[in-house]
Amino acid sequence: MIPRDYLTSRSTRLVPAETLLAWYEPLRVEGYCRACPFYGSFWSCPPHPFSGEAFLRPFSWALVVAERITRDPRTHPRRPLEEIFQESRRELGQELLRFLSVQPPGEERSLEVLIAGNCYHCSRCSRDEGKPCRFPRKMKYSLESLGFLVSDMVQELLDLPLEWPSPGQEPAALVAVALILSHEAAPLERFAGPPKKKH
Ligand code: SF4
Repeated sequence: MIPRDYLTSRSTRLVPAETLLAWYEPLRVEGYCRACPFYGSFWSCPPHPFSGEAFLRPFSWALVVAERITRDPRTHPRRPLEEIFQESRRELGQELLRFLSVQPPGEERSLEVLIAGNCYHCSRCSRDEGKPCRFPRKMKYSLESLGFLVSDMVQELLDLPLEWPSPGQEPAALVAVALILSHEAAPLERFAGPPKKKH
């Protein structure tokens, strides 16, 4: 087994769900999405037949989860940081799906998960072929696609500076972001637990 070549550090912040509306700018964010060559190609991404505000409305609490991903300096760099980021983002997504699956009966329906970035469960999304989602229970909407300025939200709520890759220059870290929405604060407090570092 190849040893893990990166480190992650998690930050979380529990807030009333309506707090997120401070970063709700659907027209601006939809403009960013329209510029993406994959616009309309994933069921997790826009256009959606509902607004982000309507999606948020039934929930009282939100847990913002940010996973800061850096290379492990004890390992030899063998792949791009972007590839590491995608692997870590999927691990976070899988962890969130497991969390939903172990909720007491009835409680899982009071929770919803959103993950920044497009769905990753199929090599080619069935939306591109005009077909229904293959795994609707696994598919989680993209946080940006609901109209939220994710980077501003993370920087301001978690005080976590974000960096982006630029030609010829790798950032020191990339950050995977997710959101859990709930009717009650208790399940979100269970997920957040004490701050932890993985090696
Ligand atoms: S699970 Fe597959 S079909 Fe459904 S949104 Fe994700 S990639 Fe598309």
